[in-house]
Amino acid sequence: MNDFRADLHCHTTCSDGTATPRELIQLACTIGLKGLSITDHDTIEAYQEATPAAAEKNLPLVPGLELSTVHKKASIHVLAYSFALDSCPIREFCMQQRERRENRNRMILDLLAARGMPLSAGDFREGDLSAQSQRSFGRPHIAMAMIRKGYVTSLQQAFQEYIGEGKPCYAPGNRFSVEETIDIIHQGRGLAVIAHPHLIENVAIVKDLLSMDFDGIEGYYARFPRSEQERWVKIGARKGWLITGGSDYHGEIKPHIPLGSSWVGEDIFNTLQQHYKGNLST
Ligand code: AMP
Ligand code: ZN
Ligand code: FE
Ligand code: FE
Repeated sequence: MNDFRADLHCHTTCSDGTATPRELIQLACTIGLKGLSITDHDTIEAYQEATPAAAEKNLPLVPGLELSTVHKKASIHVLAYSFALDSCPIREFCMQQRERRENRNRMILDLLAARGMPLSAGDFREGDLSAQSQRSFGRPHIAMAMIRKGYVTSLQQAFQEYIGEGKPCYAPGNRFSVEETIDIIHQGRGLAVIAHPHLIENVAIVKDLLSMDFDGIEGYYARFPRSEQERWVKIGARKGWLITGGSDYHGEIKPHIPLGSSWVGEDIFNTLQQHYKGNLST
């Protein structure tokens, strides 16, 4: 029996996950994964530590990234895979995303302060105040700081009452369009994949995304039952796209989603790996 499983969607402490890149690699080996792609939000910083850690353990690792975009005012996540880690278009885009995040985090902090819940940048950036930091800080970090300050008692409460989409302290910030994001991924010779279509409620938005120049769709996601996955797998197959999958593991902040809860087999992982190797030899 072929027991090859590769998880293509997970987060580390370089964005809003709680495992360090090295811990994540160790965990992947412990649970028997045969391949991995780390897809932090808007940063590839994890690969600095993860690449040597994976090499030590002989765990094949394919570059990945989860980019924040907007379409018709809805927040849409786009996955990028198999680009070279030194790709200038991808690195430049991550830098722009970091600037956007900083401005947007500031807007959220202002809204919280106006409601009597002041937080300093140091409160939520866990002491990492360097302007050169390539980590992505966002709402989960703000939520955790709100818990530490005693403003809320849980991450869910922070999102539901204050910083979730449409709540009083939410700020969307200027996000990039899906189309320009796909374009940048292709400039960086990566593959662009629709992230977790299962979570998109607006049918018109799904239709728009399916008409765009994607290379794949995340058919297998988190702990969704097989019956709900099939719909997306069929759509992807009809389009001739790659059908990717992964857990969206975040560690302790989302303890109900374990690493490896969704995965892909050897064929898809090899395809991503071959594409990556092709980028290295050019
Ligand atoms: P940001 O990238 O700063 O907009 O934060 C988005 C991240 O916050 C998502 O990727 C999730 O990890 C997390 N998130 C979004 N909505 C919620 C929610 N309602 N409850 C808990 N976490 C959430
Ligand atoms: Zn996240
Ligand atoms: Fe996402
Ligand atoms: Fe994710």
